[in-house]
Amino acid sequence: ASVGLPAYEKESSTRENNVAKIKVVVRKRPLNKKETSRKEEDIVTVYDNAFMTVHEPKLKVDLTAYVEKHEFCFDAVLDENVTNDEVYRVTVEPIIPIIFQRTKATCFAYGQTGSGKTYTMQPLPLRAAEDLVRILHQPTYRNQRFKLWLSYFEIYGGKLFDLLSDRRKLCMREDGRQQVCIVGLQEFEVLDVQIVKEYIERGNAARSTGSTGANEESSRSHAILQLVVKRHNEIKDSRRNNDGNEPRVGKVVGKISFIDLAGSERGADTTDNDRQTRIEGAEINKSLLALKECIRALDNDQIHIPFRGSKLTEVLRDSFVGNSRTVMISCISPNAGSCEHTLNTLRYADRVK
Ligand code: ADP
Ligand code: MG
Repeated sequence: ASVGLPAYEKESSTRENNVAKIKVVVRKRPLNKKETSRKEEDIVTVYDNAFMTVHEPKLKVDLTAYVEKHEFCFDAVLDENVTNDEVYRVTVEPIIPIIFQRTKATCFAYGQTGSGKTYTMQPLPLRAAEDLVRILHQPTYRNQRFKLWLSYFEIYGGKLFDLLSDRRKLCMREDGRQQVCIVGLQEFEVLDVQIVKEYIERGNAARSTGSTGANEESSRSHAILQLVVKRHNEIKDSRRNNDGNEPRVGKVVGKISFIDLAGSERGADTTDNDRQTRIEGAEINKSLLALKECIRALDNDQIHIPFRGSKLTEVLRDSFVGNSRTVMISCISPNAGSCEHTLNTLRYADRVK
């Protein structure tokens, strides 16, 4: 039955099933200098971090704050000694080969501001690009005219901004086949992996910063970096569309989106005195709730996925249907002062799982 299928689709079904559809991983950061100097207690105990195994046993986080004790199990729990490289190996690396088999993957970093989302997320696209480019150059794929493309944008207050073209405002459109199209989003071909680092830095510098300081403001936006593998056909690529628009170059084979979510505590800003902050807080709250609902619907193989709940989930719509993979990295702070936020993050992750 596979006659006529392009080579990259033939081997699919067998290998793709080995990678869990949804994976929830918790990462604890170390106490920082400030917390240590205040003699804050580390209230998070990680029992096991056997991150090397494929079918890892369920692991535990023990949160002995004050009197109450809370235990949670996740697919993997990474303690403060785990490096970013190891995080990559546990979360993204297993998905890379199946990107070439029409998989659309998303990797989220969730957690309160200061819990390590950006620290965790930054290096992942670079490593992923390295691996994707290596596969592109393998003999099996060399003649497929695959190319890797990168884009980086932000959702701030429910609006989209291109982080790689002067924060140009973007809008989202759905085509007849319910494919998401972000009109005007710049895509750059990744010819050399080092350039990915430059794009990331350029995009980060463009993230919304206000008078209150960078971390403060970026904690109110979702940053989305996408790596897209496309298959190119010179003849089709050079043909103009009927409407005279530029041709849509290349056919999407698969993609992976890295999403540095807004600080989870921002959803609670809905009672703030400042009107703008309140609106943004409500938007963040809505998007994080919608995200949870979508992942749960995916997990239950529901036919109806409630994408419409927020801009974030609408934008990710095509990553929630068909052959999708989702990795949620929940970042937590270890200090007693963050107890409430940490519990909220773990409960959220627990619901997604
Ligand atoms: P967030 O993006 O969630 O607001 P950051 O990634 O900016 O948080 O992390 C807050 C601070 O903690 C940063 O200074 C970062 O370098 C540090 N940090 C976070 N995670 C780790 C970690 N696993 N190991 C060492 N330092 C970390
Ligand atoms: Mg951050």
